[in-house]
Amino acid sequence: MTKQSLSPSVQEAVLKRVEEIGSEMISFLQELIRIPTVNPPGEHYVVNAELIGGKLREFGYQTHYIAAEGCHEHTEQYPRLNVLGRMEGSRKRPCLHFNGHFDVVPVGEGWTVDPFAAEIQDGKLYGRGASDQKAGIAASIFAIEAIRRSGLRLQGTVEQSGSVDEESGGFAGVAHMAKLGWISDDKTDFVIITEPTNVDRLFLGHRGVYWFKVTTHGRIAHGSMPHLGISAVDHLVDFLYDVNHQLKPSLAQRKTAVPVEPPGSRYASINVNAIFGGQPEEGMQTPCVVDRSGAIFDRRFLAEENFDDVRGEVKALLEQLQGKNPEFKYNMEDMMIVQPVQTDPNCELVSAISQSAEQIFGRLPKLAASPGTYDQKHVVRVGNVQQCIAYGPGILDQAHLPDEHVLIEDVITSAKVMALTALRLLGTE
Ligand SMILES: [Zn+2]
Repeated sequence: MTKQSLSPSVQEAVLKRVEEIGSEMISFLQELIRIPTVNPPGEHYVVNAELIGGKLREFGYQTHYIAAEGCHEHTEQYPRLNVLGRMEGSRKRPCLHFNGHFDVVPVGEGWTVDPFAAEIQDGKLYGRGASDQKAGIAASIFAIEAIRRSGLRLQGTVEQSGSVDEESGGFAGVAHMAKLGWISDDKTDFVIITEPTNVDRLFLGHRGVYWFKVTTHGRIAHGSMPHLGISAVDHLVDFLYDVNHQLKPSLAQRKTAVPVEPPGSRYASINVNAIFGGQPEEGMQTPCVVDRSGAIFDRRFLAEENFDDVRGEVKALLEQLQGKNPEFKYNMEDMMIVQPVQTDPNCELVSAISQSAEQIFGRLPKLAASPGTYDQKHVVRVGNVQQCIAYGPGILDQAHLPDEHVLIEDVITSAKVMALTALRLLGTE
């Protein structure tokens, strides 16, 4: 790092430049929001990737388009296209990579504004994806552009990527890029994922996730003579009872030391996501004892919990039921396993962004962890880049809601934090 990059006059000039290009940044954000990149199914990804790529090229980056070849989500009708821009300084390392996902969740009901018009009212920019997380993409691109327009050249390398499918697991997005080596410890030093963290907080990581399905089996019989059959629904009810009365109280005792926000999410938890069994709800019913039933569970686990134990205690409940009732037949399937991740709060990236945020807000940012997962798992576990955090202008509580919006002031403020962070980490010529 050069002394010059941290000199007050250089910083002052860059911060002023961020403000000067603020309206350009917001117009670009509006353009992003006006492309309805709804996932599922993954619409208009190519147009959005090209919009980001075009802007990056205009701002001096070499751009690469990375299609998710070989991923089953990547189809002719809904192609999965990621974009990555790279701007090398006089040195290849360190390399700071900004990543933002440009897919958005479906609109849902209850909107009072057009979700894709990107209207501005009272300092708020409305639209699906405004907070989660197209604002973060605009902020990081213009943060670096402010440095360039101040006539400065960063010494290290900056990369910016726009990726797909974060909302559905990120396998064709960040995971794919990491697998191909685009985000990897042999070229990438720091990753900032620009998810909504409320501008003055940052996320060090997230909890673990275990989705699993339990299916119970019985024997079909006529509903007027249920004693001749075995009800798979009764089996499921017994299991759900034990989940509620044995597992849940035990999970409620387990609290993580990781600063997960909101604090209610610092406990281990389980939720029933779906339940099935018997005849379809619509249509004619015929009298039958249900021979197949089941449920899908969403278990969130803590950094302090071991995954094998997490799965083992569910299995133990099922075995206990089978021990009491030999007719209790079941099977249990894993659907998704995400290990918790947490970046070292004392690493260079966290300290650089913390100092930068302190300069802007007059206080250190809150170091938190996310209750749900995001693409950090792929950066850390597939790309093996350990210094990765989430930081962005969006409002976390606005994510996925009707009338989703972001504060324009936050977008500009976060770009200032990002610009100072880049100066600190990469230095200037
Ligand atoms: Zn998001």
